[in-house]
Amino acid sequence: MPYRAPVSDFRFLMDHVVGFADVAATERFAEATPDMVDAILTEAAKMCEEILAPLNRNGDLHPAHLENGVVRTSPGFADGYKAIAEGGWIGMSADPENGGMGLPMTLTTTVNEMMSSACLALQLNPLMTQGQIEALEHHASDAIKETYLPKLISGEWCGTMNLTEPQAGSDVGALRSKAEPNGDGSYAITGQKIYISWADNDFTENVCHLVLARLPDGVPGTKGISLFMVPKFIPNEAGNPGKQNDLRVVSLEHKMGLHGSPTAVMEYSGATGWLVGPAHGGMAAMFTMMNNARLGVGVQGIGAAEGALQHALAYAQERKQGKAPGTGTIIEHADVRRMLTTMKADIYAARAIALMNAVAIDMALATNDAGWKARAAFLTPIGKAFGTDVGIEASSTGVQVHGGMGFIEETGAAQYSRDVRVTAIYEGTNGIQAMDLVARKLMDGGEAAFRLLEEIQQGAEAAKATCPELAEAVWDAAESLRETTEWLVEQGDLNQRFAGAVPYLRAFARVLGGHVHLASALAGDEAREKLATFYIKRLLPEHIGLLAHVREGADDLMAITPEELAA
Ligand SMILES: Cc1cc2nc3c(=O)[nH]c(=O)nc-3n(C[C@H](O)[C@H](O)[C@H](O)COP(=O)(O)OP(=O)(O)OC[C@H]3O[C@@H](n4cnc5c(N)ncnc54)[C@H](O)[C@@H]3O)c2cc1C
Repeated sequence: MPYRAPVSDFRFLMDHVVGFADVAATERFAEATPDMVDAILTEAAKMCEEILAPLNRNGDLHPAHLENGVVRTSPGFADGYKAIAEGGWIGMSADPENGGMGLPMTLTTTVNEMMSSACLALQLNPLMTQGQIEALEHHASDAIKETYLPKLISGEWCGTMNLTEPQAGSDVGALRSKAEPNGDGSYAITGQKIYISWADNDFTENVCHLVLARLPDGVPGTKGISLFMVPKFIPNEAGNPGKQNDLRVVSLEHKMGLHGSPTAVMEYSGATGWLVGPAHGGMAAMFTMMNNARLGVGVQGIGAAEGALQHALAYAQERKQGKAPGTGTIIEHADVRRMLTTMKADIYAARAIALMNAVAIDMALATNDAGWKARAAFLTPIGKAFGTDVGIEASSTGVQVHGGMGFIEETGAAQYSRDVRVTAIYEGTNGIQAMDLVARKLMDGGEAAFRLLEEIQQGAEAAKATCPELAEAVWDAAESLRETTEWLVEQGDLNQRFAGAVPYLRAFARVLGGHVHLASALAGDEAREKLATFYIKRLLPEHIGLLAHVREGADDLMAITPEELAA
């Protein structure tokens, strides 16, 4: 099924909903003129539609595999990667000093979504590299920057992130990998890492691993962790790949989906690495990479959802079943129309939230303003979790639209559902994202949250004259969310917050969705107004049940014992 990039939605959201004009008005991003934005969107759409989308099934049918210790990638992935690298799409937002384009993260976000719709498994590779580039730009020494950044940005080399170990998943602080000083400024890295995405491939000259490990004097927990650059091939004096490092891919996982992306167990046996950032400052450095990746993973969910919607729409307009008026196809049935419209309205909301997040990141970078920074930090867990939840829900609904054919692999509907499932797990599970939102992100007494809610209510006030019914619903929802946020902030016992963290994050996303749909209804045509009406009247009310859940706290939940659960 051909993929058609939603370029007009990106353009509309940037122009009328998420405030991209503010970004383009800054000195830092002055080059992001309307013509430049159009050129980027058009060119990226063309690559995704014509080169990447035809590779998606290859990844599923011919998974990456290990051949005598060497990773062999799915047919066509090398050419797809070449197109991504040569188009300059990896280093779009990277510093021009090192060969990047210095463009706003908002634009990178649109391109990442298109690549995710087209071929999620391959897109994960440049996504990891983008995160690594940002971590190095912020934390690495000049020598590391000089050696690695130009090659990562050009795509000649690619990057991975190595946090997870068998006993250290969500609890990264439990990791055991060690780093011993070699006495020459380098370190010997020893340990096993698991689930490492794109740990190797057969199309880049080098693979650069960012590895978390503990120095001999590192205290237990996250405070004693340091970050190291550990390349597959150690760069020689000329900066080209030299001697093979003491690391290897032990095995690749057999997964539920995302088969085109090799997920490896890695063994580091005294591999040579170099410190990135200060000793014991690894988590701060890794967080730069993770925050970038969190927005990116949220967008992976949205991309997969868009692919699933386009598949389902095409099928629903062909399949004839039952007494349907008009075309006689199943799209005429009210329940099928409900499924497709839910997918479209949720994708639209999630896409707008991701772009709001990206705009906040760009503004924080361009202005160094604490308010923008706090807004970006607050939106990141929401964007990650809601984007990936929408990915899972929409792709599952896409299977349902197909009926029995959805369960048959040939249609491709099931692949979206299987591929996207992991996005709610990696980069911090969605549960961990929600806990971050109600704990760390409310540590300011809820200031960033309240500021967003005020903006939503101001938007609703302004819309009251034109769309009174929709505006009132959004204003009321924001008010309920404000009251629940006040209740959360008052809870000193964090477990009271954690018990309702996931429903709270979802309710926040629902209300933000109402806000962006309302703005679209005001600025857009009849079709956008109809979609906004569907979202605000039918999907937004979900927040009522979610907020009731939040305010129950933890006591009744924790009173149900494990024995009672198992009875
Ligand atoms: C396909 C794939 C690719 C991956 N790629 C990478 C990669 O490139 N690099 C890398 O380093 N890692 C990678 N990961 C690992 C991934 O980030 C972890 O799987 C994830 O962080 C969860 O850790 P875990 O699997 O140990 O689950 P656990 O931490 O054991 O979690 C199990 C459940 O318990 C919950 N939980 C855990 N702790 C808490 C808590 N304190 N409070 C409340 N709930 C909690 C979780 O939310 C989850 O629901 C990948 C994983 C997969 C499957």
